[in-house]
Amino acid sequence: MTNAIRPQPGILDIALYQGGQAQIAGMSNVVKLSSNENPFGPSERAREVFLRSVHQLHRYPSTDHAALRQAIADVHGLDAGRVICGAGSDEVITFLCQAYAGPGDEVIHTEHGFLMYRISALAAGATPVEVAERERTADVDAILAACGRKTKLVFIANPNNPTGTMIGAKDIARLAEGLPKQAILVLDGAYAEYVEGYDGGKALIEARENVVMTRTFSKVYGLGGLRIGWGFGPQAIIDVLNRIRGPFNLSTTQLDVAEAAMRDQDHVARCRAENTRMRAWLAESLAEMGVPSDTSTANFVLARFADAAEAASCDAYLKTQELIVRQVGSYKLPHCLRITVGDESSCRRVAHAVAQFKGQR
Ligand SMILES: *Cc1c(COP(=O)(O)O)cnc(C)c1O
Repeated sequence: MTNAIRPQPGILDIALYQGGQAQIAGMSNVVKLSSNENPFGPSERAREVFLRSVHQLHRYPSTDHAALRQAIADVHGLDAGRVICGAGSDEVITFLCQAYAGPGDEVIHTEHGFLMYRISALAAGATPVEVAERERTADVDAILAACGRKTKLVFIANPNNPTGTMIGAKDIARLAEGLPKQAILVLDGAYAEYVEGYDGGKALIEARENVVMTRTFSKVYGLGGLRIGWGFGPQAIIDVLNRIRGPFNLSTTQLDVAEAAMRDQDHVARCRAENTRMRAWLAESLAEMGVPSDTSTANFVLARFADAAEAASCDAYLKTQELIVRQVGSYKLPHCLRITVGDESSCRRVAHAVAQFKGQR
């Protein structure tokens, strides 16, 4: 009877996204290091604006996001007309797939790339194409070799989640230069702020017609719960994305809080510095216990264990210690655990617990 009602092709191939676990039954003092959240939360100024926004709840929000785009443009030295804002960078990724990829088109992502690229490609009816990485790092030659007539989008997170690795400006430029002429390179800069001096690809985007960046307020800005992200790209592409963007896709609260957060770069600098310090400490401590990781450029460490079984039992042990980290089997890294760099006491707790786990073996 119901068989005649079917979704568009591709949609039933989408596996539901699994977010980082947030709770352990029966435990109250849990430290959540599973979703790469900023342990310090948002800027004080952003919190104040959030509270004040209650007075605007009956008003429809701005449709053009002019004030937020201007704040982003001021801080990053961009043309505000080429900035687009969305409900998380996830929404900007969705716009890109909807606007540029459909049935018969291919969307390239890398072996250990962010799962949303595949999900958004399938939702648009396009075919996701996975390209092997080399030592958990994007391989430009392999990506170029995978490109063809059907390639419409190529997604690279730089730094990448969950590997924490990144590729340099020369490699990114070579990738952009080598793409087929109908394809767009999307640089997902969700963790760009953690890399001192990295422009997220701004100079390359300004020099070319085929590169877009996506950015987020969910990581260093500490606003994952509010859902705000943005993109910057060539005017022609941004104009296309704006045609499919809902006019009220961001609330006044989201817009005003994000603007205040963007204008508080001191908070960003403090969070970056603390992350850099504790990330080095955590990686070194784990390495001393025989748990290596690649040099991370983001706010997490991808801890490598002997095999999937050891990673799973370490994860289970950490849960008994009220510590939640992320198993990354769905990213084809079953022998690894992704551990968000928390504040100092969380980092010490997780290092202590991994040491106990290793000592018991
Ligand atoms: C966390 C993350 C994002 C952010 O998504 P939002 O929708 O902005 O919260 C984007 N890309 C990658 C690779 C991430 O890890």
